[in-house]
Amino acid sequence: LLRTDRDHLIHPVSSWKDHEAAGARILRSGKGAWVTDSEGRDLLDGFSGLWCVNVGYGCQSVVDAATEQMSRLPYATGYFGFANEAAIALAGRLAAKAPGDLNRVFFSQGGSDAVDSALRFIRFYQHARGTPQKRHVIGLSRGYHGSTYTGAGLTALSVFHRDADVPLAWQHHIPSPYPYRHAGDGQPETIIAESVASLRRKVEELGADQVAAFFCEPIQGSGGVIVPPAGWLAAMRHTCTELGILFVADEVITGFGRTGPLFACETEQVVPDMMTVAKGLTAGYAPMGAVFMSDAIYTTIRDNTPAGVPIGHGMTYSAHPVSAAIGLAVLDLYEGGMLENGRRAGAHLAERLRAMADHPLIGDVRVSGLLAGIELVADKATKRKPAADLQLASTLSRAGYEAGILFRAFGDDIIGLAPPLCCSTAEIDLLCDRLYRVIDDLRP
Ligand code: PMP
Repeated sequence: LLRTDRDHLIHPVSSWKDHEAAGARILRSGKGAWVTDSEGRDLLDGFSGLWCVNVGYGCQSVVDAATEQMSRLPYATGYFGFANEAAIALAGRLAAKAPGDLNRVFFSQGGSDAVDSALRFIRFYQHARGTPQKRHVIGLSRGYHGSTYTGAGLTALSVFHRDADVPLAWQHHIPSPYPYRHAGDGQPETIIAESVASLRRKVEELGADQVAAFFCEPIQGSGGVIVPPAGWLAAMRHTCTELGILFVADEVITGFGRTGPLFACETEQVVPDMMTVAKGLTAGYAPMGAVFMSDAIYTTIRDNTPAGVPIGHGMTYSAHPVSAAIGLAVLDLYEGGMLENGRRAGAHLAERLRAMADHPLIGDVRVSGLLAGIELVADKATKRKPAADLQLASTLSRAGYEAGILFRAFGDDIIGLAPPLCCSTAEIDLLCDRLYRVIDDLRP
């Protein structure tokens, strides 16, 4: 398997050279918050796969729902006026749970194509309302929005721009609200005021009548788990309304209990014009993403498109019945105590990580529910980064694996944690104890 993997399987976002040299770690099974590799080693998954297996592994109710749907009707198209029961039921339940009037749901296959779909719907909306010149879209530095051409362009992480000819001409970025590395006083009011001013300036520069939307993650995930100050999200929502541009929340990571509530926007009672989700929607048991749009956007597109003219956007696997059946079973779990357990585990994680923060190598700890970032520094006073030649990310991943834990080591000295919502406090303790030892072993 290792040889075949090396010779034939292209891995997502990986160094092809390193991968061929090092070989893969093959995971074979999982139960609860644990996975087992092909050599029988048990690993506590502190990252929920790729921030997605929110309900944990091996949930029988999810497997049963998938099996039942798969054996009864594995596929039905949503084209040509057809539908399937599971997708309809899931859309209805999601609309009832989503913030405000986000009552219309389009299902994609994952997060990248949810973002790409949102961008296309925004285009349709601007055409429908007679403002096709509103084509520019603004995101945040350190933002991640997927790997499609448009998603990679809206992303502002250098790896995704390298040799890729993105951002596209209509994609722009303003600085991330990053308290720990803020160049000024780092105060919440200052950071919020600066973000609002940056957005206003960018819109002014491009022309208010030329800008369609602002996209952001309520908490930036792949950019290093950047938690903005309280009030930031509401301030950005408000500014978008004032500027007459759409506010789109990318909740691909933050959705489905990751930060405590079902959606992170709820924390500040923010109602976006559009919202993208994936990952926790099906908790990794099958691929699925979704775009929520407001009634206002939906009806504008509908009412300005003649009957008989299709809205030209959709994929073979939009609203896939097996994924939808899984989504329903996963929602049952969230509502049946999993969100509650996640909040309890999250509070414990915050307590444990904050207690670790006096370690000389830990510069910053940021936690929101079960989403956490730990930023390592060579010197706490100056916040100097560890020497580049330490290759911290690969060292940390290796040491973590040896210690029996999985987490994400970002290239820029940041450790990401996103344990499943089913974790017990004892499992959070074990994860933190092992992680502390892994970090402490880095000491010169
Ligand atoms: N948006 C955000 C905020 C994400 O974190 C991700 C994936 N990490 C995506 C979009 C893309 O989702 P996917 O990998 O399912 O295509």
